[in-house]
Formats: sequence, C-alpha cells, structure tokens
Amino acid sequence: MAALATVTALTLALSTSAGTGDLGPGSTPAGAGPVSLSRSPAHGPCMISGGPEVQMSEGVPTTTGYARSTGTVRALTLMIDFSDAPGQGSALDRYGEFFPQTAQWFRTSSYGRLDYRPETPVRDWLRMPKPFAEYGIERGAPFDPGYRELVQDLVAAADAKVDFRAYDLLNVLVTPNAGPSALDTVLSVTFAANGDAPIADGVPVANASFVYSRQDDGSGSYGRTGYRVLPHENGHVFGLPDLYTQEGGGAVGHWDIMSEDWGANNDLLGWHKWKLGWLEAAQVHCAARSGTAEYTLTPLARAGGSKLVFVPLDARSGYAVELRTRDGNDEAVCRPGVLIYKVDAQVATGMGPVRVYDSRRDSGGCTRAPNVHAELSDAAFTPGETFQDPHRGITITVAAADLSGDHRVRVTRN
Ligand SMILES: [Zn+2]
Repeated sequence: MAALATVTALTLALSTSAGTGDLGPGSTPAGAGPVSLSRSPAHGPCMISGGPEVQMSEGVPTTTGYARSTGTVRALTLMIDFSDAPGQGSALDRYGEFFPQTAQWFRTSSYGRLDYRPETPVRDWLRMPKPFAEYGIERGAPFDPGYRELVQDLVAAADAKVDFRAYDLLNVLVTPNAGPSALDTVLSVTFAANGDAPIADGVPVANASFVYSRQDDGSGSYGRTGYRVLPHENGHVFGLPDLYTQEGGGAVGHWDIMSEDWGANNDLLGWHKWKLGWLEAAQVHCAARSGTAEYTLTPLARAGGSKLVFVPLDARSGYAVELRTRDGNDEAVCRPGVLIYKVDAQVATGMGPVRVYDSRRDSGGCTRAPNVHAELSDAAFTPGETFQDPHRGITITVAAADLSGDHRVRVTRN
C-alpha cells in the first residue's frame, strides 16, 4: 500500500433541483433549513446568499427542499444487491460498517441537536430487478436515467415493508462488490433537494445518499474510519456543498468532512454548524461595523460558548473565524488555533465555495497522517499572529489564549 497518502478519489454531490421550491406544502416530512437557523437582527449583514442558480450554495438560510438537520431525523437505510453483484455476507453487516458511528458522529458534531435515527425496516439484501451493469451507474452519472430507474426499482422492491412518508432521508448502502473499488473511482453520491425524484407513498424521494464500495485505504483503519463517507453524503442532504475541488482537498484541507472524508475523523466548519442550526444566535458574532471589536472563541468541538465570528465583505461573502482543537470529531488537528476562511455563497459545490487561509504557507504542514491534506494542517493562526486583507481594510489578530484554551480575537475594519 505505497499509495496511502495519495488517495484522492472523492465523493460527488449532484443537486438536481436545489432550491426550486417545487415541493408543495406538506409534500415532504422533512422541514427545511431556514426554520432551524438561529439568528437575531444583528446577524443580518452576515446572512450571505447566492443566486438561485448556485448549486448547493453556502448561503444562509439554506434554501428549501433539503432534509431537516435538527431534532429527530429518521434515516431510512436500505441495503441493495444485484444478480451480477450478489451481496456477500449479511446485509446487516454492511449496515454495521456505518452504524452506530454515523449517528454518533452527528450527535457529537451537533452538540446533541441532531438526533439521527437510522432505521432498517428491510433487514436483508434488497435484490434489484436488473443487473448492476444495466443501470449505467458511473462517477458523475446524472439522476436520469440510471438513478431514476434504480430509485423506482428499490421503491417497488421495498414498498410492501416501508412507509416512505415516515422518513426524512434515504441511505442506500450498495453491496461493496458492485462497481469499482473506491481506491480507483468513488461512485458514492447524493441527490439532494430533488423535487423531481420518483414518488413513494405520495412523497418524492428527494434526499437520497448512495454509498458504494469501501473507503479502505489499506492502513488498517477501515473499521474505525470507513463510515465517514456517509456523514459526508448526508451533509449534502442537509444542503452542504462539496468543499474539495478539481485539484482535491487543497482549498479546505481536513478542516471539514465535506472536504475530506477519508482517513482520520474530522468535524465540520463552524459556518456549516451555524448553517445546519447547531449554533445558537448568541454563539455567532457578526462583525459588520467599522472599528475594532474583540471576541472570545471557545473550541468549536466543545459544547457552549462563542464559536464563530463572521466578517461580511458584501452580500455574498465574508471571512469566518473559529477555534479548532483536537477534540470531539476533530482527531487530526496537529496545531490548534484560530482558523480563518473565506465563504462565498456565489460559488457552487465543488468549485471552491470555501477557502482556508494558511498561516504557514509552503510549510508542508504538521501531519503525515494518511489521507489528511498536509499543507493546510498547520493553517490555524496562534496568539500574536495576524491575518490581513489590506484591500478591504480588515485585520484579524489572535490576541491571546487563556488557561482554559479559549482564544481572544480582535477584528478591525477600517
Ligand atoms: Zn460530496
């Protein structure tokens, strides 16, 4: 396994009709993001948004059609196989590759605000009527016609045992022997806010994640980290975009599971936690006024305290500031400190909507962990260090850290 650190195969999100709002009232059991975003009038300048044409925008609040990301979320989980790829071992063993870890991951990351309930009303492999090869599934395949057919077939196969109205999202765990190895091509994909999806029990199967193969890099950590593709894919059903780009994880590194979902565990950016409704309004500070203001940040992975300062640049973008430590889901942090990144709601999924600023450019980073983007691993700013955008007249200084690990951050806008 000489190629441990060079696995760049990544998952893909396709949002076919995000935000079109074409779901009639009550047509889906899932509430939408906007309901759960905590904000006050002071957050107004930080409510950045992109145009309706932006696929899976980072804007807040999240547009409608995605699955609810707070409270109890019921995740229908089906295991499927094919005549040319019969399930090996039990379907529940496949389920066990992702649970209970995925539910625990969401509980930890959301500070308990997302109560994720996986359910398997069908406990055996659900055999699809056609061979896998006939669906024409490949990386980047659009919903039509292959996935539409696959969803129609699995709805038909499961319908007698499943009331689709009872669920907020669908996980399809495909037998790992269908399709290529994830080391070659990652097929795993999510179709989110897809109001045009096939109807089951009167509701569209609008938010569905498909997981293929095994993201096993050969390092021996699969049993501990292989589930992580599922929280990534489910991130899409909650409206989060892909943060990796054509060039791989170089925009955000290992600071968000929407950027890198192989290797050591990681958390979500504070921006994503606010967007998903996991932060209270009082935990998010909007630094919109000119002059200097100071904020105390507590580690993002720990519950309670201030988590995010956002410095808006215009109606669509701004700088986010948060404190990252090795804690909770963040197990790969090798240099704790204040992470500063730009969020642009006008940039679509996979095109680099978030860019992390590296406090130590070209350093090579502080980790050699497999599948962790090394260069950005030491990106965080530490006490005494300053980020500057002279063009916009913005200075962000990490003033100090106290004994409990909290950090003081000073933001100046001219
Ligand atoms: Zn993705």
